[in-house]
Amino acid sequence: MPEIMTRMKEVAEKIYRLEIPIPIMNSVFGVYLIKESNGILIEPGPSIAVPYIQEGMKALGMRDLAYIIPTHMHVDHAGSIGTLAHLFPGAKVLVHPQGAKHALDPSRLIESTRIVWGVDFESDLGPIVPVSKAQIRVPENNEVVTVNGRELQIIFAPGHAPHQMVIFDRSVKGIFCGDALGLLAQSANPFPLPNTAPPGFDQDIYLQTMQKLRNLKPRILFYSHGGVVEEPDGLISMAAENTLTFGKMVLQALKEGKALEEIIQIMRDYILGNFGVRVLESDLSMFVSGYVFYFKKKGMV
Ligand SMILES: [Zn+2]
Repeated sequence: MPEIMTRMKEVAEKIYRLEIPIPIMNSVFGVYLIKESNGILIEPGPSIAVPYIQEGMKALGMRDLAYIIPTHMHVDHAGSIGTLAHLFPGAKVLVHPQGAKHALDPSRLIESTRIVWGVDFESDLGPIVPVSKAQIRVPENNEVVTVNGRELQIIFAPGHAPHQMVIFDRSVKGIFCGDALGLLAQSANPFPLPNTAPPGFDQDIYLQTMQKLRNLKPRILFYSHGGVVEEPDGLISMAAENTLTFGKMVLQALKEGKALEEIIQIMRDYILGNFGVRVLESDLSMFVSGYVFYFKKKGMV
């Protein structure tokens, strides 16, 4: 059995989840391959994912890609789209209207990646290169892309970032949710944390999007940060509840003049005490500092 098969699993009909280790982020990232004639790649990940994707495709007997679809233009989800577009010149890269300019000219994405992951981020995440205009396709909200009879509905899902979209696979009633429904903490049971990454996070819009996605009555959620969730209704409720509750707590602590470290401590204790979940330090500081940025931006503190 090739080594790649230990990282890859069929999670729904013809949908394979490939787990890419990203040591600098202390986690794995879930890339999804759909095995239709001319395959579909959802959430391609950073460029260090490319050799894994090639191996995975080989193991599945997939020779080409019709579509490459990142849910949004953050490096962990979309850093590899330029590299992959070069490797698969027949593929179209589907990006949100507000993400298209970053696919064509990734200089701002490179700049923000440098700020977060260091000037030499390429050694940890791989390079970020442009996609040619001819390969970029900008869908409309709710547009349905059909491959071999399989219908993928592209739904704009702002809140985490204004240019976030999700992909609803009608054949399995599954949502490739990107960061629109939070990220799942590593715990015995899936526990959703708000993904508040600055500068694009907007809590009100995030919650509206969650409701909109719940109304689709999905049967399965395909997370990128986290695994695959069946019977998602309760999980989406919990994601919305956590977003509201954690937001209120961070805001209250900020109003009381607490420092970032103290607020992180409060949230760490609260989540462990109430849910028995020990959240990764990097996830804790991400969502707390994201909220702090957001409440300050809104002028609420
Ligand atoms: Zn993101």
